[in-house]
Amino acid sequence: MPERDDLLAELGLLPTWRLRQRAGMTAATTAEPGAAGSRDAEVRDGPEARVIRIAALEWRDFAADVESCTACGLAAGRKKSVPGVGDTKAEWLFVGEAPGSEEDARGEPFVGQAGRLLDNMLAALGMKRGENVYIANVLKCRPPNNRTPEPREVDACRPYLDRQIALIRPRIIVALGKSAATTLLEVDATIASLRGRTHRYRGVPLVVTYHPAYLLRSLPDKAKAWEDLLFARRTLRSAMGDDDP
Ligand code: URA
Repeated sequence: MPERDDLLAELGLLPTWRLRQRAGMTAATTAEPGAAGSRDAEVRDGPEARVIRIAALEWRDFAADVESCTACGLAAGRKKSVPGVGDTKAEWLFVGEAPGSEEDARGEPFVGQAGRLLDNMLAALGMKRGENVYIANVLKCRPPNNRTPEPREVDACRPYLDRQIALIRPRIIVALGKSAATTLLEVDATIASLRGRTHRYRGVPLVVTYHPAYLLRSLPDKAKAWEDLLFARRTLRSAMGDDDP
């Protein structure tokens, strides 16, 4: 494990990024694969039946259900679906946009270059993927050439994200980038206009920050992303009744 200062140096954030306290950690778990539910009712009753079925999925069936999903055209081009990874009882939920090529090959979110930055940001907060952290994307399948998700793809995949959030019951959601923020908040707005405030997704506090892939290209905004993460931690602590700064 690299030293904290090495991590911060890699992020280009010394001496600004400083930790005051480590977050608590819990055991890591991942979604268990299982049998996909019957889709007969959907053929008979239409798309609403699918939304209702997904809203009742349990973890044991979740990953297999995503893997067998063909609700949009992205299914045809995927190597693996990327349902999400982490502690299914996590307080922290990070939501990105969609898998890239490495995620598509491995079936796990944020395992490429942007993922390394995300892991380093978590480490700078004293956190780790899988330990009190769950990571998911708006889309569970890779768009060709990493293009921006299309609205119909977001609409088709959204029931899975909604169900993940309902199952995890996080205490704080961090929306990484515009796709996650606008999908979860159902608004059309820039990251700049959404940062620095606590939003709500079905009652859960939600904080918006830049996408790690964008931060790889924009060094000055890394410091803003760090502020956002500290703000998210303060929001979580005050939501839990611990008002220490
Ligand atoms: N970008 C994302 O939004 N998600 C990933 O899983 C990887 C890159």
